[in-house]
Amino acid sequence: NPNIALLKGSYLFPEINLRKKQYLAEHPEASLISLGIGDTTEPIPPSIAQSLADFSLGLGTLDGYSGYGQEQGKHVLREKIAAKIYSHSVQPDEVYVSDGAKCDLGRLQTLFGNDISIAVQDPAYPVYSEGSLIQGVKEIISMPCYPENQFFPDLGSVPRTDLIYFCSPNNPTGAVATKAQLEKLVRFAEANRSIIIFDSAYANYIQDPTIPKSIYEIDGAKKVAIEVGSFSKLAGFTGVRLGWTVIPDELKYDDGTSVKADWHRLTSTIFNGASNIAQAGGCAVLDEKGLKEISSLTQFYLENARIIKETLEGLGHVVFGGVNAPYLWLRFKGQNSWDIFQQFLDKFQIITTPGSGFGRAGDEYIRLTAFGHRKDILEAAARLKKHTNDH
Ligand code: PLP
Repeated sequence: NPNIALLKGSYLFPEINLRKKQYLAEHPEASLISLGIGDTTEPIPPSIAQSLADFSLGLGTLDGYSGYGQEQGKHVLREKIAAKIYSHSVQPDEVYVSDGAKCDLGRLQTLFGNDISIAVQDPAYPVYSEGSLIQGVKEIISMPCYPENQFFPDLGSVPRTDLIYFCSPNNPTGAVATKAQLEKLVRFAEANRSIIIFDSAYANYIQDPTIPKSIYEIDGAKKVAIEVGSFSKLAGFTGVRLGWTVIPDELKYDDGTSVKADWHRLTSTIFNGASNIAQAGGCAVLDEKGLKEISSLTQFYLENARIIKETLEGLGHVVFGGVNAPYLWLRFKGQNSWDIFQQFLDKFQIITTPGSGFGRAGDEYIRLTAFGHRKDILEAAARLKKHTNDH
């Protein structure tokens, strides 16, 4: 596939590791704190971990053994997702259980193929554009998002595209789209006959009841939007692997045929369903007990975000995100994001992620994550306070 060669070398995390190694070679006594990687750090809550263990042990018994399941996912899990995540605004048979949002984003890109145009937020989770490049998509429109436009694209200057990728709460900016903004987006897609691929992987971090957790809270969205969700940041399932995609029955191609029918055909051809162990865990996540447990987990990370945000604001920084989202986005006007990364490493021994890794509009920024053990977050806050004014 010659398109693979079009991808820029993935140098972000290797370069971060290289700089980390160099720093440690010069300062072997240093203890680095990573606020860089978007991976969860806290254990899977007890009732959910128990369900994973019980199901696994059951597989070793005649009664508990099961092999291939329904490709679309266990019906009971699809019912729970429709009920608990979407308050019945979507139907269980519009929900397709997956092995994670990233994997489904890749399959969606296979679904739509290469003869399409797409629009992506800049900065953005790199999979939207890189996965499309692999497919051979040529027309990729960037929608810059920055404080001056409240991190919401200036739709008036965005040309029509077949697909629009949109992520709220956003990785990396931590921005959340308001209901009015999402209404604009849905009207824009209707007018242009575009399909929105809405990434709601961080929806559980939304605490403000006026902010939509799903694109389907907007009237008419079922006719223009696919939503991709994940248990990764909801329940610490980044390693367990479980997610879902909603393809509404109402979503049609221009010729009136069903997108869902094609998705069904595609997933039954190149996907054999999510792990049954992970799905058992997913059911436990959405039980009453599991929901309480994951709510504490979400609150834990949001408290981490609050600690970092307040510390940085107390030091005079302008911090975006970190409320209703686990990411904080810091601007250093006129500076290069790798230089900012290096300053945080040299001054505070804190690893961050340079914003340029998420697109050109990330150039003056770094991303900090709220995923971390509390002691590390407190230590990071203490270092920021202690060394900010050192010269
Ligand atoms: N979407 C966004 C915006 C993400 O940041 C991530 C992971 O970091 C994913 C999707 C991937 O989720 P999953 O672990 O379900 O593949």
